[in-house]
Amino acid sequence: MTDALSRLLDLQTKDLALLETDVRLKAIADELAGLDAQIDSARRDLAVSTKRHEDAVKRRQDLELRIDGYRAIQDKRRQRLETVKGAREAQAVVTEVEMARAVLVREEAEWVKVAEGVHDCERAIKAVEDRIAALQAGQSAQRETLQAEIAELEAARSAAMAARDAAAVEVDRAIRARYDRLRSARSNAVVVALRGDACGACFTAVPRNRRTQIRAGVLLDNCEACGVILYAEVTDE
Ligand SMILES: [Zn+2]
Repeated sequence: MTDALSRLLDLQTKDLALLETDVRLKAIADELAGLDAQIDSARRDLAVSTKRHEDAVKRRQDLELRIDGYRAIQDKRRQRLETVKGAREAQAVVTEVEMARAVLVREEAEWVKVAEGVHDCERAIKAVEDRIAALQAGQSAQRETLQAEIAELEAARSAAMAARDAAAVEVDRAIRARYDRLRSARSNAVVVALRGDACGACFTAVPRNRRTQIRAGVLLDNCEACGVILYAEVTDE
């Protein structure tokens, strides 16, 4: 194995280690996002319940105003009843009072229903608030663990980054430029060993003359099909 190749492979090993920490950090970020999503979903339920409660309170208030209005009018009718003269006029007012009372009874029954609805909404809000509190309590240990893992991985990532940078300066500039260009397009290895007569990445056959040169370590050749830098693994044969 040539020096140039071993330095390049060393850089790749360190880049892949760096990538591994990034992948693990991303996985933890996704896990945290999942926990957030559970809470967010419960908070949306809370917003819906709160809005329902507000609407129900408003309906109850409107109903109370209307009922108060009916009662005031009804009082006036009763007062009128005391001052009317003549049985026919009195009978007319009595009829009015009775009809109005039927309306009032209906409205009061409606009020009872709406007031029960308000209580239902209050219970629903309490239930969602309890659910949010339980979620937060249930998640706290998991979040703590994840935060600790993040801190550990961030440290590992800094170390991996420093190791990678140190390895990079050891690689020939032209080869590094090729390597960096390839890496920007691929997330896995870009320096790949021949597998038999083929490229170890895409398994396209490599022409004999190029294989010979690669095995001789004359050049770091690219696969014609997928572009990875090819090399020959040293075997004991
Ligand atoms: Zn290939």
